[in-house]
Amino acid sequence: MNDSPETRNPKPSLSDILTHLGEDREQYFQAIAPPVIQTSNFAFPDLATFRECFSDELDHHVYSRGNNPTVEILRKKLAALEGTDDALVFSSGAGAVAAAVIGNIRAGEHIICQQSPYSWTSALLRKFLSRFGVEYTFVDGTDIQHIAAAVRPNTRILYLESPNTMTFECQDLAACAALAQKHGLVTIIDNSYCSPLYQNPAAFGIDIVVHSGTKYLNGHSDVVVGVLCANKAMVQKIFESELMTLGGILGPHDAAMVIRGLRTLPLRLQRSSENAQWLISRLEKHPKVERIWYPFHHSFPQLELAKKQMRGCGGLFSVQFKSDSMEKMETFIHRLERFLMAVSWGGHESLIIPTIGFYNIPGKPNASLPWTFVRFYIGLEDPEWLWEDLERGLEAL
Ligand SMILES: *Cc1c(COP(=O)(O)O)cnc(C)c1O
Repeated sequence: MNDSPETRNPKPSLSDILTHLGEDREQYFQAIAPPVIQTSNFAFPDLATFRECFSDELDHHVYSRGNNPTVEILRKKLAALEGTDDALVFSSGAGAVAAAVIGNIRAGEHIICQQSPYSWTSALLRKFLSRFGVEYTFVDGTDIQHIAAAVRPNTRILYLESPNTMTFECQDLAACAALAQKHGLVTIIDNSYCSPLYQNPAAFGIDIVVHSGTKYLNGHSDVVVGVLCANKAMVQKIFESELMTLGGILGPHDAAMVIRGLRTLPLRLQRSSENAQWLISRLEKHPKVERIWYPFHHSFPQLELAKKQMRGCGGLFSVQFKSDSMEKMETFIHRLERFLMAVSWGGHESLIIPTIGFYNIPGKPNASLPWTFVRFYIGLEDPEWLWEDLERGLEAL
């Protein structure tokens, strides 16, 4: 939440990043809010500029599939938040994940991935890259020995998601980075759960940090956006290849929306975390609650690791309820009026995903979890107002 000394690049401060960094107001009438530079291309005043721009499209303005001034402000802020040299933004988190992975793999090579990543990350390996001769192994990443045992001579990428977003399994980032270095692997982490405020994986030696900016970073459930943070050479490589060729870029209007979202990130995350913890303190005393999943909860199996590498814990948690019938469970879900039943998270509004909804849909993930399991995201509302809704619903169980 604060300007932590743990970040690899502690200057500029969080306030500086969110209020000023990347914003050159002299360029646009001293406007406080950066303009949406809604243009596809940029004119060159002379040949010298033409040549200079074409020598480095990442940091000049040539064409908005590559770089755009509004998008560039966002890139600078995100890189500073993660403590990396640079950042790229994509039209979705899935696009950022795909660019990070595809940019570092060839046919015949092998990827190790923690066992339950975001569903479309799993699909990228299982359904998409497998068509191009890429091998993969999913491992229980809670134990570094399992990861070490999965390394093969052709392993190239170690893909992490810590915590993940249903059961919040964590990987030891420092240990993973050390293992990867030993075997020459590229490490990628999906850091969406923590946001850059609560965990900076680059500081532990992780090579590429990706985010679904759709979640906390934009924070208002109105933009789909992806983020990739890494050192300059890696960003340059992915820019020239996956970003420019696949073209999954973010438009300037969406970039301006995310810049606006970032202004309140610390406040929103703090509120969401406090609300979640307040509700957990009520839920854990409720007779119909079997188990709570939350990385900073005293019952969490990896509490010590979570506290070691995370500075905070956010608004996502899961609960396993006690229920002897699916009908009662469904009644409980249907009674909730203030929580919306929806995927995604990280916005202003509180949400639930009940795993009972996945039952009887063939091939859907998370059906391995019990039907009494509900993933909660707690937004910015009054927690007592949310608790009233939950208490009323729980009478059905
Ligand atoms: C939502 C999500 C994604 C995908 O991001 P989109 O912006 O929806 O494409 C990836 N990883 C995690 C952990 C997510 O929650």
